[in-house]
Order: sequence, then C-alpha cells, then structure tokens
Amino acid sequence: MRTLLLKHGEIYTEAEILYGGDVLISEGEIRKIGKDLTVENAEVIDLKGKKVVPGFIDIHIHGGVGYDTMDATYEALNNISVHLAKHGVTSFCPTTMTMDVSDILKALRNIKETMEKGVKGANILGAYVEGPFISKEHKGAQDEKYILEPNKEIFDQFYEAAEGNIKVIILAPEKDPSGDFIKHVIKKGVKVSLGHTSASYEEMKRGVDYGATIAVHTYNGMKGFHHREPGALGEVFLDDRIYGELICDFIHSHPAAVKLLVKIKGVDKIILISDAMAACGLGDGEYSLGGQKVYVKNGEARLENGTLAGSTLTLDKALQNVTSLGISLFDAVKMVSENPAKAIGVFDKKGSISIGKDADIVVLDSDLSVNMTIVNGKIIYTK
Ligand SMILES: [Zn+2]
Repeated sequence: MRTLLLKHGEIYTEAEILYGGDVLISEGEIRKIGKDLTVENAEVIDLKGKKVVPGFIDIHIHGGVGYDTMDATYEALNNISVHLAKHGVTSFCPTTMTMDVSDILKALRNIKETMEKGVKGANILGAYVEGPFISKEHKGAQDEKYILEPNKEIFDQFYEAAEGNIKVIILAPEKDPSGDFIKHVIKKGVKVSLGHTSASYEEMKRGVDYGATIAVHTYNGMKGFHHREPGALGEVFLDDRIYGELICDFIHSHPAAVKLLVKIKGVDKIILISDAMAACGLGDGEYSLGGQKVYVKNGEARLENGTLAGSTLTLDKALQNVTSLGISLFDAVKMVSENPAKAIGVFDKKGSISIGKDADIVVLDSDLSVNMTIVNGKIIYTK
C-alpha cells in the first residue's frame, strides 16, 4: 500500500488546530503529524491551507441514492457506502427499520456478509437496529404493525444473524422496567439507544441507570420538556451519561433548538446523525422507507399523514448547518467524528486525527464542502 503525505493543511487534531501542518499516512494508518515532514517515495498532496478533519461517522443512516439497508443486498450497501464517502463519511452503521423479524434478520445477515466482502466507499462498522422494541405513541415513520415488546430471544436472533456485528439497538425504556433487556444487550457489547418512546423523565432516567448511553434523534420521537414533567427530553438535557443524537437539517428541529441543545449538553455529548433515507442524494419524489410510502418535497421526507420519515440530510451539510449557528468547526468536528466514535466504542482506531489510528480523513474547502475523502489511507473521492 502506498505512502501518502498531506502537506500544508489546517490539521484538526484532538487537542488543537495545527496550521501549515502535514500528515503522513502509511499502510492505512496515520503515522506522523507535524510540520515540514519529508519521506521518500511518498505521494505528496499539497493542500494549501485546506482544512483536514477526521472522517465523519454516521451511526444512524438508513439509505441513500435510491437504496435502503432493508433491501438486504450487497449492491444497496455498497452504493450507499460510495455515496456517503462523497459527503465526507468514512464509516457508518447501516440502520434497519421496524419491519417483520424475518426481514430484519435478512438485512442483518447482509450487513455481516457485506462487511466481510468489503465496500468501495465508507467502512461499515456494524448494524444500528431501529426497532422493533419501541412505543406506538412515538413510532414516527416506523410501521406500527411490526412493533414488539422487548424480547431477549429475538435480540439474540438478531445478534446471531449479524454474527455479533450490531453496534446499537433502540429501545423504548418504559417497556423494560426491570432493566432485564438493557442489561442483556449491554453484556453482549451492544449499545442501547433510547428513543421512539413515550417514557416519562423518570422512566428515561431509569433506562440510563440500567446502562443505556445514547438518545435517539433528540427532540424527535420522544416526550418534550415540561417544567412539571421534564419528559424524556429533560433526561437527555440533564444527564451526562447519555449522548444525544441530532438530525441537524433544521427540519427535524429549529435552529434555536439546536443552539439550546449545544448550550445544555455541550459539544462533547452531541452526535450528528443523518437518519437519511433512500431519497438522499436524489431529487424530490415518491420513495419508500420500512415498507411505507414516503413523499419527498423540497428535501423534506414525509409519510402520507405528514409524519417526518427520515431525512435527506448528509453529514457535510449537518456540519455546515451547525457552524452556521456560530459553533466553531473545531467543536462541530467533535460532534460528527469524535463523539460518534466514542459512543459506539471505536475511538481507539477512529474518530480523530491521531498517530496510530486508521487514516480516515476528510479535506474540506473553505466553504466546508468536501474536497477529498480518504478511507483507510486510500483516496476514495476527490471533488
Ligand atoms: Zn432512523
């Protein structure tokens, strides 16, 4: 594998921004970070002051460019992976929908097989299982007829189908009062994300006490804040043990609500997700998500009854949206790279530009559009 030397960039490391800095990549890893690096036989790329940031990690993404994780085909995941890389994503968790258990099993088997085969764009880290153990009251665009009570045996079937390659599963915590399900899942090394829930503040907090560590798309699919019943949202606001996912498209939440969340939770506890569906990367029109018809108009994806149904967001756009609110790029990068890596337990190898980590790197132009994407030391995309 060839050696790559990125020169004269604005390097966003964990601790600081290194201006006029170089990054040496070899064997798919970041080997050196510094100034005036030289090495023989390396391919040198002069970045002339462009921003060099860690690759984005989209932990909650259903699909794009006409494909969906539930298609359960290699073609679908590979095309999604290539599409994501164009938007600066270097790793992702294909996300299943609340459908028949047999369909979820098929999708999980395909994720595992696709991981073995390898994809041409962003890396697949493992599955994110959205449902079926959620609440009917806050189901969002998940089909009610497939919603089930938490069931350890069914979870075990999921886990076996994916051969352990599940990173996160969603749960409505009010359905697991004893914490039996949460503890079972965590023991297998899978993170529990609380959402699509009608939990009270107390029920949500209890879920976190049992070990859940992520809140699903904060604000959406959960009880909002009231000063006499702080709701699930109150728990997300208050508890540092839980990361809050955020779909920052200014459709799923108002810019002021985004600012509020940043102020309350801080930049170390927010994870930008796309929650994108098949229409992402294509135009307006009629699509499907989890077996239901979705109408996309002006980039907004909705079911026939008007319920928001995933998004057409990409993480480069989410990053631009967040910074448009006055949040620094240094902090925004944490939300799109470092925090998701920490939340799903891959920060030892991913999520920051550090020596010894996988060379998953995005080069941004001054307008924060993606100029180049490098996955495992290989240039996958150039503008
Ligand atoms: Zn989703």
